[in-house]
Amino acid sequence: MYSALRQYFGYTSFRPLQEEIIRDVLEKKDVFVLMPTGGGKSMCYQLPALLFDGVTIVVSPLISLMKDQVDGLEANGIAAACMNSAQSAREIRDVKTAFLENRLKILYIAPERLMTPGTFSFLKKGKISLFAIDEAHCISEWGHDFRPEYRKLKLLRNPKTGFPHIPIIALTATATERVREDIVSQLNLNIDPEKGPYVASFNRKNLYYEVRPKKDTFSEITDYLRRHRGEAGIIYCQSRNSVEALAKKLNLAGFRALPYHAGLSDADRARNQDMFIKDDVDIIVATIAFGMGIDKSNVRFVIHYDLPRNLESYYQETGRGGRDGSPCECILFFSRGDRFKIEYFISQKTNEKEKDISLVQLRQMVAYCEGNKCRRQTLMEYFGEVLLEPCGNCDNCLTPKGTFDGTEATKKLITCIQELNQRFGTNYVIDILTGSKNKKIRQNRHEKLKSHGIGREFTKEQWRSLASEMINTGLLNVSGAKYPILKLNAMSRKILAGTERVELVCPEGFVPEAEEHSIPSSIAAGIKGKKADDLCYPVEGS
Ligand code: ADP
Ligand code: MG
Ligand code: ZN
Repeated sequence: MYSALRQYFGYTSFRPLQEEIIRDVLEKKDVFVLMPTGGGKSMCYQLPALLFDGVTIVVSPLISLMKDQVDGLEANGIAAACMNSAQSAREIRDVKTAFLENRLKILYIAPERLMTPGTFSFLKKGKISLFAIDEAHCISEWGHDFRPEYRKLKLLRNPKTGFPHIPIIALTATATERVREDIVSQLNLNIDPEKGPYVASFNRKNLYYEVRPKKDTFSEITDYLRRHRGEAGIIYCQSRNSVEALAKKLNLAGFRALPYHAGLSDADRARNQDMFIKDDVDIIVATIAFGMGIDKSNVRFVIHYDLPRNLESYYQETGRGGRDGSPCECILFFSRGDRFKIEYFISQKTNEKEKDISLVQLRQMVAYCEGNKCRRQTLMEYFGEVLLEPCGNCDNCLTPKGTFDGTEATKKLITCIQELNQRFGTNYVIDILTGSKNKKIRQNRHEKLKSHGIGREFTKEQWRSLASEMINTGLLNVSGAKYPILKLNAMSRKILAGTERVELVCPEGFVPEAEEHSIPSSIAAGIKGKKADDLCYPVEGS
């Protein structure tokens, strides 16, 4: 193992987990690898491929990356080839011959090619030692990059038509529990139950995380770029149009920036990407089309101009920064307007299940942005990893926001939700608290409620940020994907009972006073008659 590592790759030691993984692969076990971008996943199948007698088939989603990988391997003296729709009939024929004559060590195949009729029976004529499924999260609808043709990979394990006895190594940088389970079950992986999957830490300590309000964003960005001249960075936008517009504005403002999105010609995209990788241009403004598998080590900032759709994508995109281990700043511009825009897009989807998944994911993304906890702890928690201490390298750790005793405010909100029989969403509840008499409230005769108007010390906007914090910290629950309804949970009950003190972050524009606002005793009396248990819902996921 070590001599192959030195001879073919020029490295003297393994990265964390690589050695254990490679040993298992060499013992012909199924292996599942979760490692962050840049962790060194390719080595986990490339090195075993060299030591096996037969050929290792690598399934990889991107044709453009295949070519790079194969070129890289060939440069190291490794017999590699690929098969995809971009090749001529003649090229394919040559690759096929080399495969049948067992002259290859590694053969990259695009999933749609692998799944065309005849390919399985062709492959059976050769000698295959291992299947490597790279970017395996593409198999899962829960992932951020679902590809229908990946779904069919489960046929690899079909007892009659597939290759049930050939080991599989699946690799991904996606680490949510749900996606993991999906990959293992779809591919029917036989993983040692004692050991489970190999999970490398996803904590990238050199990445600094920050969320800024999306206000005067262009001048914020140019200020930033001015202070970071000569550094390489990526600016992500959600749409092709905003990529084009921002790139143009930046160039007019004196910054050299190139656009990258799926609407450009292949040649333009390849050229722009190449110029960025070779440091001929510092800034690339891109949609999510940019980045998968790109190995540029010195990216110093990753800016999100628009809200990403989920934490998964956000984490992957920021993961493209700081691959050399030096610091990289990841700054996200957040606005509620962006949230509504994405919600609107989601509402246009026709598949109900997909809609619900997307809405839940969006909510988690928003909770990250609005949260006041250490960003890294929130991110790691999402990926199922526990960080015991706040990281000290994110905006929330470095500049914590001021807090106040929010017990009364929380009680007011809970009281109101309860009075509304837990049947309304945040905006409606806030309208009641702030004493609005809009049409809907009058129709429902809710201006007569005891909690109507008890929360006038905060503006609607301030209540929204308080409510988000209460939800994000588990004081309240939300249920229903399409029309989120505020619900009480065990924590809410404790707070109403008066046994918990709640510390909340001061919403923008609010300066806490010394005196406390208390709930009028008439309201407190009104809710006494109900049994707290009737009003409570279990905490989600507990
Ligand atoms: P991933 O697929 O996990 O994102 P890659 O396989 O592309 O990561 O590897 C990222 C970088 O790490 C590559 O430049 C690779 O050459 C390098 N690398 C992999 N293994 C080692 C090792 N044992 N020692 C040093 N560098 C390594
Ligand atoms: Mg990779
Ligand atoms: Zn932190």
